[in-house]
Amino acid sequence: MIENNINYYKKISDEALSSLTSNQKYKFAVNEKLLQNNISNFMKIDDSTASKELIDKYKKDMRKMFNTANIEYNKVFNKLNATDDEVLKQKILNDYADNGIIGFKAKNGARWNIETYSNMYTRHVNNECVRNSVLEQSKKQGKEKVKISTHGTKCDLCKPWEGKILTFEELETAKSAGLFHPNCLHIILFVVERIKF
Ligand SMILES: [Zn+2]
Repeated sequence: MIENNINYYKKISDEALSSLTSNQKYKFAVNEKLLQNNISNFMKIDDSTASKELIDKYKKDMRKMFNTANIEYNKVFNKLNATDDEVLKQKILNDYADNGIIGFKAKNGARWNIETYSNMYTRHVNNECVRNSVLEQSKKQGKEKVKISTHGTKCDLCKPWEGKILTFEELETAKSAGLFHPNCLHIILFVVERIKF
């Protein structure tokens, strides 16, 4: 699924760049098929309320992303057409080729281009659905705790929680403190109860 996304957003970024280079207008359009495909894949992983809310937000944000991309494209297009200076024109084109359409801000203020943003977001929702599914199953099985996976993280947001066994309440605290941030690789594991003799 992620592969399809990567290819698609690379394709439209390239199309936009060649349109700019030949001084053509370009319009990013929502790829409904890809979007619906992603959504049904997410729903297959987990259809809990938490995941549904997240998926709903994803759908809105992805549509909004195309508006932002068009506004940004037009800005660059107008900037190119506002000058006759060939050196400046080349600089604007190079910037675009290096950075792509930038207009998406992460919570921490980082700026993303349409490719990195959509790929990051799609992967994030996918991972969240996987986590939610383990959480839901744990609850259904009457478990009271879950475990956070370990991979020797260097991320300060996740380090305090890595490998920890947490109650559902503690898990919520961990999440609001930054665990499972975008691009976070941590997953939720089932807690295996020891057999008592
Ligand atoms: Zn993490």
